[in-house]
Amino acid sequence: MERRRRMTLPHLPPDAALFLDFDGCLVEIAPRPDAVVVTQALRDRLAALTRRQGGAVALISGRDVADLRGHLGGFEGIIAGSHGSELSLSPGRIELLHGAAFDVAALHAAAHDRAGPHPGLLVEEKPHGVALHYRDAPDLRGYVEAVMDDLARAHPHLMLQPAKMALELRPAGVGKDSAMAHLMGLPPFAGRMPVFAGDDTTDEPAMAEVQSRGGFAIKIGDGPTAAAHRLPDPAALAAWLDAHLT
Ligand SMILES: [Mg+2]
Repeated sequence: MERRRRMTLPHLPPDAALFLDFDGCLVEIAPRPDAVVVTQALRDRLAALTRRQGGAVALISGRDVADLRGHLGGFEGIIAGSHGSELSLSPGRIELLHGAAFDVAALHAAAHDRAGPHPGLLVEEKPHGVALHYRDAPDLRGYVEAVMDDLARAHPHLMLQPAKMALELRPAGVGKDSAMAHLMGLPPFAGRMPVFAGDDTTDEPAMAEVQSRGGFAIKIGDGPTAAAHRLPDPAALAAWLDAHLT
């Protein structure tokens, strides 16, 4: 089944706009977000794709831009980070795509207070929210849900976003889909057919967005999806991308 789907994956036209999620898509999910492995092959692949697509390549990630640029060392392309809250068109430049200002340090502190007694939990501080990871303590899922529900009630301008073995609070009203729509209004993306690959529930609105614009979406891994195409893992996506570079 997977093999047949892989074989029917469309060609990536050089004049398409390419949007790529990071974790679970370009790289394997790591036990901790900071333990992710970025190879030189991946850096080279992204640079070559950006050249091939005339600059119309963007990473769209739940990670914040600074974190992602740190992991990708030397990547000069476009990044939409923090689930579409931040946009970086070039290194050293970050613009915010949402306007709600609030005391994010207090939110981080509250999350640390609640996670502190449980060594298996990991608080990930985001520029405009917070994520609580329970990958190392899956039995604490119910506790994490209760904590994040409490924090969500205290911050009505934030929304709860489930992710893989994590729950996140992020600004309401923005997402990977809205960041993609913003980029599709800018050169060199405007007028192109969008293509998007992602792996998580957070990617589904963007899957629908590209398909509503006449493009195609690729789901990486298992799970329900709106995407018309599927690949089993990041290695398969890398192989499909590389097939356009030879
Ligand atoms: Mg992902």
